[in-house]
Amino acid sequence: MANKGQIGVTTENIFPVIKQFLYSDHEIFLRELVANAVDATQKIKALAASGDYKEELGDLKVCLELDEKEKTLKVIDNGIGMTEEEVDKYINQIAFSSAGEFLEKYKDQIQNIIGHFGLGFYSAFMVSKKVTIETLSWKEGAKAVKWSCDGSPEYTLEEIEKADRGTVITLYLDDDSKEYAEKARIEGLLQKYCKFMPVPIVFGKEQEWKDGKYVDTDKDKIINSVEPLWTKAPSELKDEDYLSFYRTLYPMNEEPLFWIHLNVDYPFNLTGILYFPKLKDRVAIERNKISLYCNQMFVTDHVDNIVPDFMTLLHGVIDSPDIPLNVSRSYLQSDASVKKISTYITKKVADRLESIFKDQRDQLEAKWDNLKLFIEYGMLSDEKFCERALKFALLKNTEGKYFSFDEYKTAVSEAQTDKDKKLVYLYATNVEDQFSYIQAAKDKGYDVLLMDCELDSHYVNLLEQKLADTRFARVDSDAVENLIPKEDKVKLEMKEDERYDLENLFKAVLPQGNDYFVQGDNLGENGAPILITQNEFMRRYREMSALGGGMNFYGSMPESYNITVNMENPLVAQIWADKLSNVAPQAELPAEAPSDASDEEKTKAREAREAVRKAHRADVEAFADGNEKLHQIVDLALLANGMLKGKALADFISRSYSLLK
Ligand code: ADP
Repeated sequence: MANKGQIGVTTENIFPVIKQFLYSDHEIFLRELVANAVDATQKIKALAASGDYKEELGDLKVCLELDEKEKTLKVIDNGIGMTEEEVDKYINQIAFSSAGEFLEKYKDQIQNIIGHFGLGFYSAFMVSKKVTIETLSWKEGAKAVKWSCDGSPEYTLEEIEKADRGTVITLYLDDDSKEYAEKARIEGLLQKYCKFMPVPIVFGKEQEWKDGKYVDTDKDKIINSVEPLWTKAPSELKDEDYLSFYRTLYPMNEEPLFWIHLNVDYPFNLTGILYFPKLKDRVAIERNKISLYCNQMFVTDHVDNIVPDFMTLLHGVIDSPDIPLNVSRSYLQSDASVKKISTYITKKVADRLESIFKDQRDQLEAKWDNLKLFIEYGMLSDEKFCERALKFALLKNTEGKYFSFDEYKTAVSEAQTDKDKKLVYLYATNVEDQFSYIQAAKDKGYDVLLMDCELDSHYVNLLEQKLADTRFARVDSDAVENLIPKEDKVKLEMKEDERYDLENLFKAVLPQGNDYFVQGDNLGENGAPILITQNEFMRRYREMSALGGGMNFYGSMPESYNITVNMENPLVAQIWADKLSNVAPQAELPAEAPSDASDEEKTKAREAREAVRKAHRADVEAFADGNEKLHQIVDLALLANGMLKGKALADFISRSYSLLK
């Protein structure tokens, strides 16, 4: 005779609540049911191992059976099963009143929580109009029972005949959950959630090609690998094992650079394998590639609260039963055991990189270009990692040689210490574009680093804070003589009106739209006539604000350049002499108004002085405009800096031809 009863809920009907809240996460019902079946199987194994269970264990596995026509899905195990009392206790009496409160309280975060926490067995009702449990306990003399419930708080419980130990859960799928009656959908979910569960999971049969089509064989198709690589001892594994595991995780990815096998059982339990992928630029970075497992059960691929941000660039798996899953994300970050885990992983990653630095230096150098974005990001965002990385991070120079920070300091300190005893590290961001500057620096016996990574403007700032008495200067930030000043330099003396003329002369022929600071200097007869440089700090702030460093004031300013005119260069000297003989000196300025003059008189006097200056400037500009040599040397300097474009470039070319005639 069947028993009838009411499931212990205080909410009128818990199932609509479940459905409503968990709408987008319905699919996790499968993981929950398979996980329960796996648990029951693990338990019978443990009972047998301890000698409490003496019968045949049989072929332990969890089977899924789908009837696409009837729209039923069965999850079958030969685990411990349940007695009638246990069904009553675990399924009926479940304190659903508290589950109701729980749902009410965490409405907003429910998507996060459910992914971790699950509602266990009851999640079956998210997709089913009716669910039955047929179960036979391992206990001697136990009677098989069938529980069945159609989604109302009423259930029936009756004795049945069941020959085999274990549990069969049958879902009668809802009309709006028909997708789960499709083989491919279930296969996909098993791949996502159950790929590494510790008990064989069978779904359908292996197929073979016969008479022009695929047909089922009688061999069970096992969808999971019960001993994934991270559960094995590192000493048993070869490189190829790690590489092939990586390929099963990410079939579309390039080979990883290095990996770490994590294995700790005290003070918390954690295993896993993390891979360093090739990182070339930010655009190609894939985050959320680390999957979190709990005893081989997939939990999530959002580990952003469990590992430091930069670690999310790594790929692989972490398996830990010690990460609290039934709490909200914001809580997770402040959880002490999560902090410990995060610190542990960071330390392991640093240890691994340090050992590669020590024992496989050639490998590190060979892979550095693809690794450095990760390391730089780590150093910029994680203080502890930064301290560690200063020991193993590499610097690369424009000749492709690699140095540790210590090595580099030793290599350049003699030639590149300035008058204030500061070490100056010169760098280029583009070997082609900055070729002439790099050459000039090398000719002076300096070394030039290559800093072409997109985080480098931030990185350079960080290194200036971390490395004592060291500053960085881009090779084109000043004339080579001034990059590493060895003694106080005497400035070229020019009279006020000469400086004014020089500035107007060059501004007249330089491209519009930028700010220029024009300055005369003596750089020798053989020095280039004009040097265009960009102040190191202005440029760096602009770059950082472009990268989102928050300094938008700099980002919105026009580009500004320093124009150094080499007055000793014969071409410049000739143009300057021509100017002197062709442009009349500025007329005498009318006197300023006396201090007791009226405002009107003051304005008049100021305007009169301004008119004289303006007239003279117009003369200088007219001279500049008609001076082909001036145009030519300015254009050549622009060309050398990749700044000559469009019409200006076309004009330059035709002028060059006509000068050759
Ligand atoms: P949880 O698994 O989180 O404890 P569930 O609602 O999923 O919550 O299950 C409640 C209990 O029902 C389990 O703890 C277990 O004792 C029992 N149970 C569920 N499924 C099975 C099964 N397939 N075999 C044996 N016992 C089961």
